[in-house]
Amino acid sequence: MTMSDAPDGSDFSLVCDDCGLIAGLLRAHLRSWELAWQQFSRYGWVGDPRAAGPHRCPRCLQRTATSVAGGDVGAVTSSGSGRT
Ligand SMILES: [Zn+2]
Repeated sequence: MTMSDAPDGSDFSLVCDDCGLIAGLLRAHLRSWELAWQQFSRYGWVGDPRAAGPHRCPRCLQRTATSVAGGDVGAVTSSGSGRT
């Protein structure tokens, strides 16, 4: 997603919807959201091409890619010692 850094919306930041990483004050370098997103997608950000997002940063993409062998750990039920 993006958030506005200036009250009048003249500056904005790109925020990762997953980890909260902020790439801030884009307007200083990039004129518009469209141009900013072009640059960020080149750097590995993915998500909706619209400013509302959601967007994910390259770090989050890597993390999910490397932690595939997870599965449901800790779903052990140790109850059921029925004595009658
Ligand atoms: Zn992230």
